[in-house]
Amino acid sequence: MEKFIFEYKEKSELYLKKEEGDGKVEISKDLLQKKELGLPNISEGTLVRHFTNLSRNNFGVDNGFYPLGSCTMKYNPKVNEKIAGNDKFLNSHPLMDEEYFQGNLELLYNMGEMLKSISGMAGITFQPAAGAHGEVTGIMLIRAYHNFKKDTKRNKIIVPDSSHGTNPATAAIADFEVVEIRSNKDGLVDLNALKKVLGPDTAALMLTNPNTLGLFEKEILTISKMVHDAGALLYYDGANLNPLLGRVRVADMGFDVVHFNLHKSFSTPHGGGGPGSGPVGVSKDILPFLPVPIIKKDKDLFSFNYDLKNSIGHVHSFYGNFNVIVRAYFYILELGIEGLRKVSEKAILNANYLKEKLKKYLELPYKSNCLHEFVLSGEKLKAFGLHTTDLAKRLIDYGYHPPTIYFPLIVPEAIMIEPVETETKEVLDKFARDFEKIMNEASSQPDLLKEAPHNTPVKRLDDVMAARNPVLTFDDYESSNK
Ligand SMILES: *Cc1c(COP(=O)(O)O)cnc(C)c1O
Repeated sequence: MEKFIFEYKEKSELYLKKEEGDGKVEISKDLLQKKELGLPNISEGTLVRHFTNLSRNNFGVDNGFYPLGSCTMKYNPKVNEKIAGNDKFLNSHPLMDEEYFQGNLELLYNMGEMLKSISGMAGITFQPAAGAHGEVTGIMLIRAYHNFKKDTKRNKIIVPDSSHGTNPATAAIADFEVVEIRSNKDGLVDLNALKKVLGPDTAALMLTNPNTLGLFEKEILTISKMVHDAGALLYYDGANLNPLLGRVRVADMGFDVVHFNLHKSFSTPHGGGGPGSGPVGVSKDILPFLPVPIIKKDKDLFSFNYDLKNSIGHVHSFYGNFNVIVRAYFYILELGIEGLRKVSEKAILNANYLKEKLKKYLELPYKSNCLHEFVLSGEKLKAFGLHTTDLAKRLIDYGYHPPTIYFPLIVPEAIMIEPVETETKEVLDKFARDFEKIMNEASSQPDLLKEAPHNTPVKRLDDVMAARNPVLTFDDYESSNK
C-alpha cells in the first residue's frame, strides 16, 4: 500500500504527498482551516484534572444507589465488559466473509435460542438498537401481518393510560391512531373499557406486564382472548423482564410480539443515548415478516439468510449492536435458568421490602403486592408547600440518583421506585432511613428541599430550559453568558 504523509508547504497550504514518487495531491482551499480553532491554551496537568473532575461529577450505578423506576439501569457485571472487549469480537467486521465470523454468528444464533426459550416466542431479530426501536419494528410487523391477510382496515392501536410514553409514541409514528383506555381502581386494565374499544379496526393492544405501576395484570389470559377474538394482536413491552425471568413466558400469556431491552433486563449498560439493543420476538404467524437478514443454522454452518420474501426489510445496518448482545449473552450463560429465577425472585422481594418501608412516609395508591417496582404519591408534600420534584432533588444531596417522578401519569405527584435485584438489604435500609430524614426535613425545614440540591456543581436547574436549550459546549456557554 502506498503511504501518504502530510506536509506543510507554506502557511495554510497543506499538501498530501506520497512518501515515494513525486505525485503531490493538493487539497482544495475551501477545505482548509480558515480560523483559529479557539482551543484553550492550558497545561496537560490542568487538562487531565479538568476531565478527571468532570468524570467525578457523573452519577452512575458504579458510585451509588440508582433506584430509577421503569428505565432502571440494572446490574452491569464487569466481567462482561472484559469479554465484550476481547479483540476477537472487536475486530470482526460484518463485511468479512461469513466463514471468518462463524463464532459471532453462532453466538447470535444461540442467544436467539435462549431468548426464545425465556419468552416462548418462535423467532427473534436482533436488529433494533433500543426498546423504542423494537416497538416500532414490532408494530411494523403487526401491520405486515394484517396487510398480508388483506385485513387493511385495522388502523388503531390501544394503550392503557398507565403505558410507557414510548408505546403511544410508537403507534403514532407508525401511523396508527392511538386509543387510550383508563385503568380500573386497582391500576389494571379495565376489561369493560377494553371491550368498548376493541373492534374490526383494532390492529393491536400494547401492554406491559407487570404494568408501569409494577402490578401484574391478573386477567391477562382473558385480555389475550378478547384481543384475539377481535382479530387483533397483542404486543408485549418487555423492556423490564426481570420480574418474570424463569417464571412466566411471554408467549404463554398470549402475546404475539415482544421487544426485550437487553440494556435493562440483561445487564448491559445504557444511558447517554446508548448503544442499546432491543431485540424483537414473534410468534409463529409473524415469522415470515421478520427483518432480513435472519440467522440460519445448517448443520454446523451459520449464515445470514436474506431470503424472506414478505420481510419488512432492514431496520438497522447489518445485524444490530453486536457488542451489546455479547454482554447479554454471557450474562445469561453465567446465570443459567436457576440464576434467572433468582433474579426475578430478588427483584420482587427487594421492591416489596422497600415498598413496605416507604409506604409509612408517602401514600401508596395501589395497595397490592408489586413485582419489580412500585409507585408512591407525593400529594402529602403539598401540605408543606412542596412537590415530589423537591423530594427527588433532596435525594441527590444524600447521594442517590433520584427515582422517576411524575410517571405513570395516573398517579398524582408520582414517584416510581425500582431497587433492582442486586441491591443488598443494607442499601435498602439506609435508603429508607434517609427517606425518613428527608420527610422530617419536609415538615421542619421545607426550604432545604425546595432549594435542593445543595452539594452539586450546579444547583436547581430549570428542567424545561435544560432539556430544550442544553448548553453542551464551551462555545455555547461563552455565547450564553455574553
Ligand atoms: C425503557 C422502556 C422503554 C423504551 O426503551 P428504550 O431502550 O429507552 O427505547 C419502553 N417501555 C418501557 C416499559 C421501558 O421501561
